Amino acid sequence: MANAFSYACRDCEGMEACPASVVAETKDEVWKLVELHAQVAHGENPAEWDSKTREYLGTLIQPVNV
Ligand SMILES: [Zn+2]
Repeated sequence: MANAFSYACRDCEGMEACPASVVAETKDEVWKLVELHAQVAHGENPAEWDSKTREYLGTLIQPVNV
């Protein structure tokens, strides 16, 4: 039974070379970490992500067992 959620940046189109991944207890926390990572590592502004981008990123957040 999955007890956490994970996101691997390399699963995102165009980010294949990025080694970062995050794992947290809730999807909400994963989102915060993904936003922080995108900002720090990729110079992105998550406030500018449109709903399509968020929908796509959301499909990359997977339930995992830690
Ligand atoms: Zn990354």
